[in-house]
Amino acid sequence: FLQIRGLRKDYGIVTAVSDVNITVERGEFMTFLGPSGSGKSTTLYILAGFENPTAGDILLNGESLISTPSHKRNIGMVFQRYTLFPHLSVGENIAFPLKVRRWGKAAIDAKVKQMLGLVRLEGFEDRKPAQMSGGQQQRVALARALAYDPPVLLMDEPLSALDKKLREEIQHEIRRIHQETEVTILYVTHDQEEALRLSDRIAVFSKGVIDQIGTGPELYANPSNRFVASFIGDSD
Ligand code: ATP
Ligand code: MG
Repeated sequence: FLQIRGLRKDYGIVTAVSDVNITVERGEFMTFLGPSGSGKSTTLYILAGFENPTAGDILLNGESLISTPSHKRNIGMVFQRYTLFPHLSVGENIAFPLKVRRWGKAAIDAKVKQMLGLVRLEGFEDRKPAQMSGGQQQRVALARALAYDPPVLLMDEPLSALDKKLREEIQHEIRRIHQETEVTILYVTHDQEEALRLSDRIAVFSKGVIDQIGTGPELYANPSNRFVASFIGDSD
């Protein structure tokens, strides 16, 4: 469904990603786990179209995305401190990607209602982001990212700024959304417990490459090296 092949990204003399290869199945929940600086975000930015790769290719349904501009890729995004448009209400924020896609007003209104229900924020439509908690804002970002049914959703540590209780609540919602829609999710986290709880498979990043890919239990039972073991095992 989504293939990343030989992906490389150099920033001057710094190689952020040196050779990332991965195939993600449709509807899969794939998590990138790895230490700071290992190239997780860079890989997502290239998928999103914010950065061009130095080498390599990304194929969605067999077609290269590299020359498709970011806003035409149909990829939803939620980042750590996702900037909702501060001057727009919650409803307007969620409606934004639909207006860009020239949806009619009635269809937009219905969709905004549906999405607010999905993230359990009925009644918050007219609030401004500043009048909501961080977790609520994050749910609005999620609603906006999912509003136009993107086939792929990228999330870069979307919950790391939240407290434990909220994090668990939103993890639960992300899992429910993943089950209720057919969206394919690429998720970045530092938190191995979160990775194990949410993912179908985990890709362990190290120094710009993927060291190992597998289900949580596979990585736990058969780490390919000590680095993977330290990241997924009891010792971390
Ligand atoms: P973290 O867990 O800390 O978010 P990460 O795995 O997301 O880390 P990246 O942000 O992908 O890591 O960065 C990979 C490497 O590339 C790092 O060494 C980083 O310093 C470098 N890098 C990333 N972006 C740039 C940039 N715009 N210019 C120069 N170097 C960069
Ligand atoms: Mg990062």
